Amino acid sequence: MGEPGIIKKLSEEVVNRIAAGEIVQRPSNALKELIENSLDAKATNIVITVKAGGLKYLQIQDNGSGIRSEDLEIVCERFTTSKLREYDDLKEICTYGFRGEALASISHIAHLTILTKTGTAKCAYKASYENGKLKAPIKPCAGNNGTQITVEDLFYNVIARKKSLRSPNEEYTHIMEVVGGYSIHNSHVGFTLKKFGENTDIKTPMNSSVIENVRIIHGNAIARELMEIELEEPTLKLSLKGCITNVNYSHKKGTMLLFINHRLVDSLSIRKAVDSVYATYLPKNAHAFVYLSLELDPRNVDVNVHPTKHEVQFLYEEQIIEKIKSCIESKLLSCNSTRVMYTQA
Ligand code: ADP
Ligand code: MG
Repeated sequence: MGEPGIIKKLSEEVVNRIAAGEIVQRPSNALKELIENSLDAKATNIVITVKAGGLKYLQIQDNGSGIRSEDLEIVCERFTTSKLREYDDLKEICTYGFRGEALASISHIAHLTILTKTGTAKCAYKASYENGKLKAPIKPCAGNNGTQITVEDLFYNVIARKKSLRSPNEEYTHIMEVVGGYSIHNSHVGFTLKKFGENTDIKTPMNSSVIENVRIIHGNAIARELMEIELEEPTLKLSLKGCITNVNYSHKKGTMLLFINHRLVDSLSIRKAVDSVYATYLPKNAHAFVYLSLELDPRNVDVNVHPTKHEVQFLYEEQIIEKIKSCIESKLLSCNSTRVMYTQA
């Protein structure tokens, strides 16, 4: 028999690093948090620059409210937020951030620098962070209104995570999905995505429309077949808006873009339900392009189901999914019958 192990408490730094690795599993998770922060700050233009799929360098520049210089000292500590003060607020939260954990997490697993200026400040301020704390005194400097956050060498101190990540190209694909999704959902905000020193890959103008941004990001073959759907179900506190392709379009992979209360999420059950409706109309193993924006009573959505906040759960799921299915079904039926009548004429 071996000697028993000696039980020791992990250092706070290691505990924080482990927690951070759960929230940020890949560069696109970090980017999603940063985009949500920029949107919370009412930015109307967001520029993202990436090196090596975000593993080496990930920068986001916005023209939002900026961060007050007095707040820079604590902004990267865990559980510091300008958005939530009481637990009860969680129930009615309508901003994206709610736990004050994103910047803290990132600062535990990357080199993080903030350059920010509020509308009333005379100059911008720059601050670098490590493990939630300032690395050096905050420096006044020149800069535009808004916030620029630079994340370098993500996972530099998380060896296991770095190994499990795929190629920079694959990480970049995830980044494109996140930027593409948020630009479609927030078509009033201009989004730019580029690799450092290269041409832009995504550029949507300010005050664009959903369909126009689908065209920019997914191409005209999808955009020209889109139909808008809308549904209000006061009894379920459900409101749905979206764009779905008609039966003329099909693709072997398909795209499902789902936002619940303005957060990009995934729901296997909604995905399956949508596929089952289209199955009647599309060739075998073919899929549609579907963008759905669901607004549910925040009290009925469990935002804490997973640290990455990706797969969501919500109350009255079965009833809500039935409503979504019949809404899509009737839209497809109406367009299918016009097509039949058209060919008969
Ligand atoms: P949360 O979003 O949950 O509050 P974060 O760690 O994401 O937590 O951000 C902490 C705080 O930093 C926010 O509450 C906000 O006050 C400020 N902040 C972060 N990013 C920005 C930004 N791009 N513009 C303005 N303020 C920001
Ligand atoms: Mg946040």
